[in-house]
Amino acid sequence: MIKRIDNLGRVVVPKGYRVMLGLKPGDALDIQIDGGKLTMKPHKGTCAFCGKTEICSAYMGKGLCAECLKAIKSLQEP
Ligand SMILES: [Zn+2]
Repeated sequence: MIKRIDNLGRVVVPKGYRVMLGLKPGDALDIQIDGGKLTMKPHKGTCAFCGKTEICSAYMGKGLCAECLKAIKSLQEP
């Protein structure tokens, strides 16, 4: 897929790619130059719920920030 960089240096990640990777607005990406390639990947240690990069816990390979962990702990079973 070919994308153009706009005059502010931005590139839109195609919606299909965002859906496949579970990316949401505000999620962090690790961007690197690798042998002449520009690569982007979801930042490890991003909260699976809100996208914050300050992780305090993990469950089944997904990171959780303190606020989301607190919110989940406060949930009551119906
Ligand atoms: Zn969170």
